[in-house]
Amino acid sequence: MSKNIAILGSTGSIGQNTLRVIDSLNSVGGERYEVLALTGHSNVELLASQVLKYKPKVAAITRVDLVDKLSELVGDSDVEILGGGGSLETVAQLDSVDTVVTAVVGAAGLGAVLAAAKKGKRLAIANKEPLVIAGELLMKAAKENGAEILPVDSEHSAIFQSLASGSLSEVEKIILTTSGGPFREKSLDEMADVTLEEALAHPTWEMGPKITIDSATMMNKALEVIEARWLFETEVSKIEVLVHPESIVHSLVEFVDGSVIAQLGTPDMCLPIQYALSYPRRVKGISHRLQLDELGKLTFAKPNVEVFRSLELGFEVARTGGTSAAVFNAANEQAVAEFLEGNIKFIDIVELIEDCLSRHSVKREVCLAELLEADSWARETVKETIKSKK
Ligand code: NDP
Ligand code: MG
Repeated sequence: MSKNIAILGSTGSIGQNTLRVIDSLNSVGGERYEVLALTGHSNVELLASQVLKYKPKVAAITRVDLVDKLSELVGDSDVEILGGGGSLETVAQLDSVDTVVTAVVGAAGLGAVLAAAKKGKRLAIANKEPLVIAGELLMKAAKENGAEILPVDSEHSAIFQSLASGSLSEVEKIILTTSGGPFREKSLDEMADVTLEEALAHPTWEMGPKITIDSATMMNKALEVIEARWLFETEVSKIEVLVHPESIVHSLVEFVDGSVIAQLGTPDMCLPIQYALSYPRRVKGISHRLQLDELGKLTFAKPNVEVFRSLELGFEVARTGGTSAAVFNAANEQAVAEFLEGNIKFIDIVELIEDCLSRHSVKREVCLAELLEADSWARETVKETIKSKK
């Protein structure tokens, strides 16, 4: 038995961890995991070295200007090279692939995730933004075409694992945990002048830059509320957020009888990645083992929604639906990119998102084209607002 895997975004944090997990799974024996396709965007050297090591059938680089460089670096190896944004969709639909790991960052992964769902693939979803933007369309496409959706995001993997203890109709609450990020204890005034370096220093998780900033603003948790709403087809009123700075309890489900089931582990993405790949089996893993006696205690608190406005906005958007989540996500992607480039302050990020949402007239019952239009509108609106303030 073997699983044939495509990794969209293999050069990123989740992508590289996925390859580590595959190495480990193959060393354990049993089911074989074949890497059939890899994709990268700008890190052509890393993509080339992955191609030389894993010998996939297809390698795609979404930045077309780097296609020649990739061909040069992989030499005469027997790999088909694709280029451009559309190549993600081609890879996601390859007949020889059964499992697609979506580890691209942002809305750029949307077309490919939808394409994989329409082809009935098994999807290991890390790339949460497409679920936020088009969760309804994605879940519908998956259902209609027999695609299996397995969450990689640690909280959603924890919920997925906890849900095995009961049925969806028996769920009273879904409780997403958050470390609170590096600024958990700061006031808004104290956050006014935080630097990029401080915002990139996450206390418990090592991740790519965009999600690390999202964790500092708590936009990550806001996006995850919307992600959970679609993945588990839950009413928004059943979702709660709990601050848990140690990042050991990855999330919890409370059932109607009062039982609370949680999944625990060290903060290491290899664990949820592996579970999505080996599901429904469990196989020896590479993550450090949890030593609860060494930790001594675990702490929990309510989030400070007055300081972290993003959380309230996330719940509001989750309830509103329609085009609002596409605007919420795109405004955040644009604002984070501007912050990473040093064009705005940290506290401007959420202000820009809130401003953008307040100017948007929400459309309901929408198709993909309308969601993409809302996405473009939000990005332009954020850019214009920044320009007008300079
Ligand atoms: P990284 O920034 O580390 O990696 C992103 C990947 O996407 C890279 O392979 C990058 O290529 C590629 N990429 C970037 N821009 C584009 C584009 N425009 N078109 C196609 N590919 C692109 O991100 P992470 O691995 O941290 O996160 C990936 C996703 O997983 C995100 O949606 C994040 O929210 C989610 N996630 C991440 C977690 C983590 O621990 N990192 C935890 C839970 C969820 P290149 O590097 O070659 O430019
Ligand atoms: Mg998460």
